Amino acid sequence: MNIHEYQAKQLLARHGVAVPLEIPAKSLADVRPAAEKIAAAGSAKVVVKSQIHAGGRGKGTFKTGFQGGVKVTSSVDEAVSTAEKMLGNALVTKQTGAEGRCVKTLLISEGAKIKKEFYLAVLLDRAVGRPLIMASTEGGVDIEEVAAHTPEKIFKEWIDPAVGIMPFQARNIADALGLKGDLFNAGVKLIIGVYKTWWECDAAMVELNPLAVIELKDGKETMVALDAKISLDDNALYRHKDIQEMRDLNEEAPLEIEASKFNLNYIKLDGNIACLVNGAGLAMATMDIIQHFGGMPANFLDVGGGASKEQVTAAFKIILSDPNVKGILVNIFGGIMDCNVIATGIVAAVKETQLHIPLVVRLEGNNVAMGKKTLAESGVAIITGDSMSDAAQKVVKAVAARGK
Ligand code: GDP
Ligand code: MN
Repeated sequence: MNIHEYQAKQLLARHGVAVPLEIPAKSLADVRPAAEKIAAAGSAKVVVKSQIHAGGRGKGTFKTGFQGGVKVTSSVDEAVSTAEKMLGNALVTKQTGAEGRCVKTLLISEGAKIKKEFYLAVLLDRAVGRPLIMASTEGGVDIEEVAAHTPEKIFKEWIDPAVGIMPFQARNIADALGLKGDLFNAGVKLIIGVYKTWWECDAAMVELNPLAVIELKDGKETMVALDAKISLDDNALYRHKDIQEMRDLNEEAPLEIEASKFNLNYIKLDGNIACLVNGAGLAMATMDIIQHFGGMPANFLDVGGGASKEQVTAAFKIILSDPNVKGILVNIFGGIMDCNVIATGIVAAVKETQLHIPLVVRLEGNNVAMGKKTLAESGVAIITGDSMSDAAQKVVKAVAARGK
């Protein structure tokens, strides 16, 4: 799961990371009071930031033609007029695709006088099985570019998960960023806070780009997380009720949300043969075998270990709401699952959705004879497959025949 920048900064602040003074605004009516508070706190500039689950907002363009999803304005009025141009409009960045993302929340922030922009991230290095902190003096820009052209400018520190971050490791990173004096101490504190956030939230990644050195009004310099991105490990979300509440369904694909309500793992793909399978491994093998016989899978769909009639019906509805789907292959291996439950579910789903495209079913395992009998006696048009390859060939052929 991903969360918005303003939510990421709330989590960071809880773990002692310095963030700018900022207030989220969900409607235009919220913008002026927020901007007034920022101005009253002494900030000459008011920054208006589009909140979408995609990066590259600063350089993005709204579909209306308005340039920039992050704007530094010079007055409350200008902040409000900028907000008017952002809220409710689609912002296209290099991470959103051509359709863009509709901006439904803004972050109203104090304007910082930026002296330097760094990059700092914590993630899991799967190759060594340890958390990895990456830092670079080349912040504010595309880190992929830095990694591709000047990889020596990315400093890496691996953390022993049993011990956690050691102060000397945070000092190594601060040193690599060229920090000195008070700034060095602020940097060490911030780096430890960022690592703690990653660990305590069970995050997959925490990324600050930029982590900025800013100049305060008295001329002193300090460091703040100017932009933050956090993605969470879904498997650990059950431990974090507060973070679960940060989920923003506006940012997720509608079919995938529907699927998650029924505990279905659904991912839409580009082909025209839908698959309904139990178990992720079998689902992948099914996609492979469809491709092997010249077809293209329309989705990945794992109904899990104990699919109910309701789940099967929901799965059919989700599959059928993709207009590209021209045929369905159901491939179920009944280990724990009773094949007859699946067969009953399929028959009910076919009737309820008034299915009008070819459906090939391959059942195997627990109570399969009964399942096959249910299908045969149902009176609905179902093509049965005896083996996985037989079923895959049949669905590819049936879809091709309809294409003619
Ligand atoms: P992104 O484009 O989605 O990565 O959004 P960022 O939050 O990183 O903002 C883009 C750029 O806007 C940053 O790299 C900064 O240069 C600039 N920016 C963001 N906040 C401020 C601010 O408070 N003051 C100033 N002067 N610039 C800012
Ligand atoms: Mn950024």
